[in-house]
Amino acid sequence: MIVTSATEAAPGRPANEDQVFRHGRVVGVLDGVTAPDLPTGCAHGPAWYVRRLVARLRESVDDEPGAVLTELLAQAIIRVRGDHPGCDLGDPSTPAATVCLVGVGADRLDYLLLGDSPLVADQGGHVAAFTDDRFDLAYASIRAEALRGDVPLGSAEHRARQRTAALRKRELTNTPEGYWIAAADPRAAANAITGSLPLTGPAAVRRAALLTDGASCAVDLFGLFDWAGLLDLVTEHGPQELIRRVRAAETADRDGFTRPRHKRHDDATIALCRFGRA
Ligand SMILES: [Zn+2]
Repeated sequence: MIVTSATEAAPGRPANEDQVFRHGRVVGVLDGVTAPDLPTGCAHGPAWYVRRLVARLRESVDDEPGAVLTELLAQAIIRVRGDHPGCDLGDPSTPAATVCLVGVGADRLDYLLLGDSPLVADQGGHVAAFTDDRFDLAYASIRAEALRGDVPLGSAEHRARQRTAALRKRELTNTPEGYWIAAADPRAAANAITGSLPLTGPAAVRRAALLTDGASCAVDLFGLFDWAGLLDLVTEHGPQELIRRVRAAETADRDGFTRPRHKRHDDATIALCRFGRA
């Protein structure tokens, strides 16, 4: 497996709340969740949380190289709990992160998804996205209310709507009726979307891209290309080129009237894994 990756904070933002890593047979991208203007009970914040979760995932891989992805993630979440014992981990806005992991086995690629960080796979020329759509389903009506495209990004009214949306969203976080995400509750790992794709035979995975929503928006928000086109762009021109294209699209719709969204720019991350002769 050959892995190339890029990650970049949103322009003007001090910290990148995305992370990308490769450790042994495991590759992951994670996107820290920001709760605008809400107390979180945590003195550390989402950028710290995501960095800690990645550090603990690496340790979990070292400790149990053969463990399934759900077990690796559960152990990492439990360990991060111990990293901030003075914080209120029962707060509904405790720092959280989406997770997209792949683990390479002898003849298959396992994946784990939590939240809106998709996996795009090219299997023998057929390209498809694998997503955890529970967040989109649970959040659809809140999103529609918050993102009507009638007030500019960054305006007071836009910010007020984002805060209202965040308050409603957190009632759905890590509940069976809502959606699951990596935070302080290790049960999220067992509730992740998981599956396996072959690495041999006619449907063998040739390429797989792990994306945070700041990168997948090239397809599912801005419509710059389809998933196959995204894989081709990143294969031919590198992951940084995808981020460059996204920045241009974000800037072209500064106020978010054409593509209503929560923020003008988002942290963006992509890891491209290539297998065999791809
Ligand atoms: Zn904390």
